Order: sequence, then structure tokens, then C-alpha cells
Amino acid sequence: MSSQSGGHDVELFVETPDYDLICTICQGVLRCPVRAACHHIFCKKCILQWLKRCRQQTCPCCRKPVNQSLIFVMFKLSKVIGRLKIKCKNKIRGCPHTLALSEQYCHSTSCLFELIPCPYQGCRAQLLRRDLDAHARHCEHWSQPCHMGCGTVLSHRTQAKHNCYRQLRHEYEARQRNHRAIAAALQRKMRRMQSTMADMKRQIGLICESLEVMDELEEVEEEDLGQTSGSFSSSNSSS
Ligand SMILES: [Zn+2]
Ligand SMILES: [Zn+2]
Ligand SMILES: [Zn+2]
Ligand SMILES: [Zn+2]
Ligand SMILES: [Zn+2]
Repeated sequence: MSSQSGGHDVELFVETPDYDLICTICQGVLRCPVRAACHHIFCKKCILQWLKRCRQQTCPCCRKPVNQSLIFVMFKLSKVIGRLKIKCKNKIRGCPHTLALSEQYCHSTSCLFELIPCPYQGCRAQLLRRDLDAHARHCEHWSQPCHMGCGTVLSHRTQAKHNCYRQLRHEYEARQRNHRAIAAALQRKMRRMQSTMADMKRQIGLICESLEVMDELEEVEEEDLGQTSGSFSSSNSSS
């Protein structure tokens, strides 16, 4: 098979490639074509493998000796082959694109019908690039940091329960409850202080009142004393 050796599969090409572009070793379209001293052309990989295997180091076409250090890469021919139109290798999976052979790698990195492994760590699924989004929606290994930027890494299981807004609201409400409790406690303390002050005022009032009463009593007693002594003296003087 051409895929095991050097050349490109003839079946890939939109138009049957010219016979001169076929490697006689692999029967594929020349990949990295090289020319031996005898002017026969092969894929570089094909001729090197051939020389490794055969003891005589001869050309597989004409049996003339081939010196490994005297084979030359044919850059221009390589470019000509690179411009040949091919069908996407994923045509069998549904890709309708045709492209230049040289664009094959580039296309494969974006071809929607390329078979790729699921990118989420631990998942062994192989799927078409086209189906990646659908797969990611239920892949068990899917994980992503929360898009709200809270720093939580979410899986499908935790994502359903995770709600940044709800979480923030809960925190906010908890803070509010806390603040209200502090305010209520302060108010209670104030009321207690106010009532204590009122009590003290009342007591001070009572003390003041009783002091005044005592003063008055003293005055009355003094007056009484004065009167009795006066009466005594008057009675004494009159008698
Ligand atoms: Zn070949
Ligand atoms: Zn030859
Ligand atoms: Zn494609
Ligand atoms: Zn997956
Ligand atoms: Zn979040």
C-alpha cells in the first residue's frame, strides 16, 4: 500500500495523475521525489528503503548501480505535485472539499470531518471535529472555569448547581442579615442605656427630693426650737 511507503495514494487525486509522477517502487504519486544517477525518480523514502534492503545497491528500474550519496531531491517537481488537486482524505466521512495536495495538512487541522480525540482530559472518545460541540455538551470529562470569573472549575454535574449570581446574592443576603442583627443589638443596648439613665435620673430626683424634705424638716425643727426657747425666755421675762 502506498500509505505504508512513501507515495501519495493515487485515489486521492481528482484527476488521474500523469504516469511520470508515479513512483515505480510504491506505485503512489511521488512524495519528496529524488533522482538517481540513472535519471530514474522515486520517493525519497522508497529508494532509501530499497537500497537498505537490496545488497547490490542497484536501481529497481534499470538495475544500474545507485550511489546513495548521489541522489538529488527534485524541488521543482515536488512543487508541481504539490499543486495537484486532491479530494479531502475525509471524503468517505462526508467532506466535500477539494484542495491542492500541499494544502492537505492545513485543511486537516480545520476539516470538520477529521477524526479527532476528545480534547478533555481522561476522555477516550474519538469523534468528527464537526461533532465536538455536541459531544462536549455531555462529555463526562468536560471541565471549564466558570465564565463569570469566580474561579470555580465546573463539570457538567457541578455546572447545573453552580450559579454565581445566586451565590453572590446568598452572600449579600447573609451579610445584610448580619448587619441588621448588629443594628438591632445596638438599638437594644441603647434602649437599655436610656432606661438605665431614666432610672438614675429618677433616683437622683428622689434623692434630691428627700434631701429637700430633710432640709425643710431641719428648718422646721430649728424654727420649732427657736419658738420654744423664745417662749421660754418670754415666759421667763414675763414671770
Ligand atoms: Zn514511492
Ligand atoms: Zn534507473
Ligand atoms: Zn476535509
Ligand atoms: Zn469527551
Ligand atoms: Zn462562578
